[in-house]
Amino acid sequence: MIIGIDDTDSSEGMCTTYLGALLLDELQACGTVEALPFLVRLNPTIPYKTRGNAAVALKLKTCFPEKVIAHVLSRIEELARMECEKTNPGAVFILEKDYETLKPVLRDFLEEAVKDVIEIQKAKSLISKFGISSKGFKNGRGLIGALAACGAMLNPEEWDPTFEHLAYRQKGKWGTPREIEKESFFEADRETYPETWDTVDLINRLVVCVPHSADPVLFGIRGVNPEIVTKAARMIRAEPVDRFAVYRTNQGTDMHLLPAANVAEVRDMHSYRLEGTVSAVPKTICGGHVFFPIKDESGGQIDCAAFEPTKNFRELVRKLIPGDRVILSGSVTTMTLNIEKIEIKKLVPLYIEENPLCPECKKHMKSVGQGQGFRCKKCGIQASSKIRYEVERNIETGLYEVPPCARRHLAKPLVREKRPNIRVYPSR
Ligand SMILES: [Zn+2]
Repeated sequence: MIIGIDDTDSSEGMCTTYLGALLLDELQACGTVEALPFLVRLNPTIPYKTRGNAAVALKLKTCFPEKVIAHVLSRIEELARMECEKTNPGAVFILEKDYETLKPVLRDFLEEAVKDVIEIQKAKSLISKFGISSKGFKNGRGLIGALAACGAMLNPEEWDPTFEHLAYRQKGKWGTPREIEKESFFEADRETYPETWDTVDLINRLVVCVPHSADPVLFGIRGVNPEIVTKAARMIRAEPVDRFAVYRTNQGTDMHLLPAANVAEVRDMHSYRLEGTVSAVPKTICGGHVFFPIKDESGGQIDCAAFEPTKNFRELVRKLIPGDRVILSGSVTTMTLNIEKIEIKKLVPLYIEENPLCPECKKHMKSVGQGQGFRCKKCGIQASSKIRYEVERNIETGLYEVPPCARRHLAKPLVREKRPNIRVYPSR
């Protein structure tokens, strides 16, 4: 059977992946684990999401489905952060006889849960239509992610999945500062990058795979296969690990991105790949956030942002000028596209205009008056117009991304970019 679980965590603690890892061990008593567990990230713009918007699915061969269901539900009741308003757990149980029927149905459901906004009613209708065993706690919103995670488990090779080795803390340590040897993360990265990524942020000198919240996760190593993430995890020196799990995931796949033909198609709470022309000089506002608008062929315009947490990425964005042709990837909230990646397709030449130079003394001439040309104060030599010359842009066409410290879970890192004939500038 496949067990889908979602929404057991809160901003103060727990983590659905921890519950998954725990159940993976405990359920060995009722059967055999058949596949790596699946961790899915859902639409990152959903406002009622809990911390990471993660759901998990486990696959188990068992002769005692009733026993499994009872155990999973009792563990959710015991461990989920029910007191948190935003925590509304859900669990679904798919029996082997229903795999073939539900494979395409839940495939589409997952796709929608990642790219779009699903109402709880849709999940409930699907559950009753196919007679799926399920339990929603409180408002039951977690049923959405639980079904979506099962959709991933039924279609494990789609969307070019990645892997994450998650290590968990001993219970007594939850909520306390994590004891880690930072240098060991840089060593693990040196040894395994680019087959692993987002362990550290070299430019900003940060360990990025260790969370700061009170949840049970000690660290998570992301990479292309189970072997490499485990190899990197073994190199980490830190406080004792209580347990760990290697998950197959849709992280780092760009699965959330919809192609947008123009700005008119763009809606809040969705993520896009959108082509357009920079239509004003980027401006930096208080707090260090950088904004600029892009325009499409039909004149539609949308603001795009590189927020302060994107650090050095903003330096690139500030070099854009009106006329540059770009393709942006990112999520849209309050009609602002939060940039995750940028493909600079075409750069327009940049000209600077200044007063002409005096041929005698080589100093800049002064304007005589509006429309009356220029004159050197010292030599009296005159000229009719300003001089214009092209200056170096100091930026290249190609693909750029935000640094690891600002990466969204679903965003595909450029080390995974397989397109030929394009210059790629990974964030290191
Ligand atoms: Zn002069």
